Amino acid sequence: MRILVTGGAGFLGSHLIDRLMAQGHEVVCLDNFYTGTKRNILKWLDNPYFELIRHDITEPIRLEVDQIYHLACPASPVHYQYNPVKTIKTNVIGTMNMLGLAKRVKARFFLASTSEVYGDPDVHPQTEDYRGNVNCIGIRSCYDEGKRVAETLSFDYHRQNGVDIRVVRIFNTYGPRMLENDGRVVSNFIAQALRNEPLTVYGDGSQTRSFCYVSDLVEGFIRLMNCDEIGPMNLGNPGEYTILELAQKIQHMINPGAEIIFKPLPQDDPKQRQPDITRAKNWLGWEPTVQLNQGLELTIKDFRDRIEGNKQ
Ligand code: NAD
Ligand code: UDP
Repeated sequence: MRILVTGGAGFLGSHLIDRLMAQGHEVVCLDNFYTGTKRNILKWLDNPYFELIRHDITEPIRLEVDQIYHLACPASPVHYQYNPVKTIKTNVIGTMNMLGLAKRVKARFFLASTSEVYGDPDVHPQTEDYRGNVNCIGIRSCYDEGKRVAETLSFDYHRQNGVDIRVVRIFNTYGPRMLENDGRVVSNFIAQALRNEPLTVYGDGSQTRSFCYVSDLVEGFIRLMNCDEIGPMNLGNPGEYTILELAQKIQHMINPGAEIIFKPLPQDDPKQRQPDITRAKNWLGWEPTVQLNQGLELTIKDFRDRIEGNKQ
């Protein structure tokens, strides 16, 4: 198949492309390199079945493809809050452009949505039926309301125009190739511990997240894309940790002497988050296989190679 991956030079997109190329597909990677980098897809650049297009999805584009994995959007709060209006444009205009493309060429369309659509949840763990608790005027709204509109657009293109959609709600995912300055918690703590800097816990660290390793997530993506259900579907690892526990774990694994310091909690930071993955288990026979310790080891190795490589 000929498959388009928007945001393909980013963290998740590049891991997805590795899997699609290994399966023998033809892949078109489309990215504006805001948070993505050519380094992530370097090994495919000379492959005749791979094509890279530098393009911003807020502008329309004409391509002929069979499937579209739509991932283009900065995922870290630091990056999506840097230019919030652009984040909304990417989620709304960009998603509309990609749905328009799917409609024109009759491609199956996969939306990378997020657990952020549940906001600061008052239901725990979160099932897909839960409608969320989102502040529509806060500093996270450009992202979480943007993704909520992206879901609405997907379902309206489906109902109104018959576009074949798949919608996944991704919970915090980590792994090799996250940017060292990404700003998300796993990459921050690992980079800080390796550089012998203090690990910055926001608030008192009692807020929770559930961390999924990237290879598990990509397996779920491909299964959902190729099954008959449209979603929305939660994908994530139900193993839930406080942020302080995560800091202590990474401190222990890298640098027991590293200091842990506390910084102010950002506005609207969700207090707890854990996916209910019953739907993924029943529909896809999917559940995560990589435990947090094992996934962190693999991620630490990648960061160590990059950070210590840069010093030489
Ligand atoms: P990322 O920032 O590494 O990747 C996003 C990619 O999209 C980058 O390559 C970036 O350059 C590109 N991009 C951004 N705006 C664009 C635009 N206007 N036009 C073209 N390209 C653009 O983030 P990621 O972690 O790989 O996330 C990928 C997708 O998954 C995002 O849609 C994100 O919202 C979603 N998601 C990720 C997580 C997670 O934990 N990693 C959780 C929930 C949802
Ligand atoms: N966080 C932290 N220190 C950091 C970065 C993040 O304590 O250096 C916290 C953040 O406040 C949040 C959690 O870790 O409670 C997860 O943050 P991240 O940005 O990774 O993802 P999100 O909040 O979007 O789930």
